[in-house]
Amino acid sequence: HPRVGVFALQGDVREHARVLTGLGAEVSLVRRPDELAAVQGLVIPGGESSVIDKLARAFGMQGPLRQAIASGLPVYGTCAGLILLADRITGAIDGQETLGGLDVTVARNAFGSQVDSFETELAVAGFDGPPVHAAFIRAPLVTEVGPRATALAALSDGGVVAVAQGALLGTAFHPEVSGETRFHELFLQNVRAA
Ligand code: GLN
Repeated sequence: HPRVGVFALQGDVREHARVLTGLGAEVSLVRRPDELAAVQGLVIPGGESSVIDKLARAFGMQGPLRQAIASGLPVYGTCAGLILLADRITGAIDGQETLGGLDVTVARNAFGSQVDSFETELAVAGFDGPPVHAAFIRAPLVTEVGPRATALAALSDGGVVAVAQGALLGTAFHPEVSGETRFHELFLQNVRAA
């Protein structure tokens, strides 16, 4: 069983832990460098990216996370987690920084106040079976996909909402709240392959 972590400083940690446990992974919560060193993959949950960034720096985790990403640790970021994995972001608040790793630009809170949250069906490159039922909650949008990253899914207007690059995976939406497991399965495949 792969031993994977959920970055647990803020956000919907339990939902990810539940999905990963259901897929047979051994899951631990990661808050400190030694806990990060003990896992073979990491999920960065949804939540508030500026808060997760601030806490990551306060807990001495920014450097270790950047190093782990650079050395190929498989990481899956949802929503705020995608923002943290982006090399470039727009709409940052409070001097917010990212960890980086994905060659993309991500716009925070890209869907405006009227439609803060919505759900839709998405076709995802490489997934068999029915479309993904995706919940967008104050979601970001990938506004630029650089040459090293690949778009995996887009809204009907073309806006990119899922990306991959090597062992990194990011979605603007929350599959962990709708019973969708294929992104977590893909993450665990990356862990087994690493
Ligand atoms: N709007 C949040 C942010 O900027 C992300 C929302 C989410 O993770 N559901 O971090």
